[in-house]
Amino acid sequence: MTDITTRLAQARREIAIAARRAGREPDSVRLVAVSKTHPAGAVETAAATGQRIFGENRVQEAREKIPACPPGLEWHLLGHLQKNKVRQALSLFSFFHSIDSEALAGAIDRIAGETGQKVDGLLEVNVSGEETKHGFTPAQVRAAFPALAALPHLRILGLMTMAPYSENPEAARPVFRALRALRDELECAHGAALPELSMGMSGDFEPAIEEGATLVRLGSSIFGQRPQIQAGAE
Ligand SMILES: *Cc1c(COP(=O)(O)O)cnc(C)c1O
Repeated sequence: MTDITTRLAQARREIAIAARRAGREPDSVRLVAVSKTHPAGAVETAAATGQRIFGENRVQEAREKIPACPPGLEWHLLGHLQKNKVRQALSLFSFFHSIDSEALAGAIDRIAGETGQKVDGLLEVNVSGEETKHGFTPAQVRAAFPALAALPHLRILGLMTMAPYSENPEAARPVFRALRALRDELECAHGAALPELSMGMSGDFEPAIEEGATLVRLGSSIFGQRPQIQAGAE
């Protein structure tokens, strides 16, 4: 067994345990294997174990990698997307985790309309208020939600967040809890269905699952460490 195979099996076990601890079914949590900076061969190894969902954060990198990967995989975009790359992104990705402004949502909707696509995505919320992070503030999401939910070609299925980096996974729990509360509030206020919560990375996916994550995004715990210089989003 390769390292990737072993680590994936371990991650799936840990996800299942965290889900059960929270009284949830393990298959209510989907694993996004974040393959950014890692080659197509690593994706192929993971896909051979049955892994189906992969995440990338750069359009340019994905454009080169995805054609070299096995067919039939589901590709999710995780990073900040520039508006001038939306058209390319729509040809590569089926799900957008990080819709971080009304302008970007509008661009995705408009171009999806042109290409006859119906796109699914999440609104990225900067719950922690860190200045270096992209995303709507909670107040901005509340204000923009009715217009975003009405876009004809973009279906908002939930919320996504990144917790501040910490050695201690428990430090992230209040951020995850706040994202879930915001989701519940939007569902209530607007009668919307927002089933997806994308929260939790290699260092903090266990509290995220306990707080309701339906998508966890694991990179380094599956594929190994990335070169530091590549760690940021576009
Ligand atoms: C890189 C990245 C991840 C994966 O991070 P790890 O700590 O390696 O698990 C998850 N989400 C986003 C948005 C990322 O950019």
